[in-house]
Amino acid sequence: MVEPLFLKPVFHEKIWGGRHLATDFGYQIPAGTIGECWAISGHPHGSNIITNGQYEGQLLPKVYQQHPELFGNPHSSVFPLLTKILEANASLSIQVHPDDAYAEEHEHELGKTECWYVIHAEPGAYLTYGHTAKTRAELIKMIDNHQWSKLFSKKPVKTGDFVYVPSGTIHALNKGIIVLETQQSSDTTYRIYDYDRRDKKAGQLRQLHLQQAKDVTTVPFTEPQINPRIVHHGSSIITTLISQPDSPFFTVYKWEIRNQTSLAHEHGPYTLVSIIDGNGILTVDDQQYSLHKGDHFIIPATVKSWTMDGELLAIASEPTD
Ligand code: ZN
Repeated sequence: MVEPLFLKPVFHEKIWGGRHLATDFGYQIPAGTIGECWAISGHPHGSNIITNGQYEGQLLPKVYQQHPELFGNPHSSVFPLLTKILEANASLSIQVHPDDAYAEEHEHELGKTECWYVIHAEPGAYLTYGHTAKTRAELIKMIDNHQWSKLFSKKPVKTGDFVYVPSGTIHALNKGIIVLETQQSSDTTYRIYDYDRRDKKAGQLRQLHLQQAKDVTTVPFTEPQINPRIVHHGSSIITTLISQPDSPFFTVYKWEIRNQTSLAHEHGPYTLVSIIDGNGILTVDDQQYSLHKGDHFIIPATVKSWTMDGELLAIASEPTD
């Protein structure tokens, strides 16, 4: 099979979400405050259906298991990455995710290293990112004493920024930020602080996971070094935002397409692509597919090269396997 796999997004309501996934991306979303679009996912909490070609109507995780050749005969038994668009219309809970070893032992799933390409940030927007504790004893003491403003660090953020969030990093998106998130396929979040908010349906405080957070937070926090590499193809610009060894689980690219550009898999067997702005054409094996903002697809391992043309901004990723 030499065709891309286009996917139908799955949406999740969140108390911190909004309506920009409808107004900015044109998605048909359910009523309420929608915070997450799961765009490329094989995770059981929201798997995507393939919308074109030979596998139309089938779930991505089923195709992943039944047709390993499309994914380069991978070692991972589960589709390893998860691409989301997140809209923060209020602060998310301040949280931390476990690494693979802790998640395997306690949650029976992958750990969660993630990264964000900032699609939009309002002036003055900031992330919660990192903490000030110098030792684990100090971290535990500050959590036990609820010294939140002393413990959590802030980082200003603007449209176009890229932020890497390895497992063990305390973090949160705050109001006025939309990101494309590339992460390991995991849904394990340990909440440290949730502003004492109550969920809408039951009026309950959302559960915190303080012991797990004390266990998995990396101490002390050091901001990861990001070393983007830029290659020009005519007027198109291909930026490798992060790859090995800086990021053990995925390579992430920004593709700014402005003329016909030939592309191929670079650091992984197959490529996940999200169009975050513009319109254009994807050509695979003489077959053309029109591309629009909000489209998400996978170029399988059986497609060795392809071209893209038009005026497009895309975030692409490849798993390390
Ligand atoms: Zn997170």
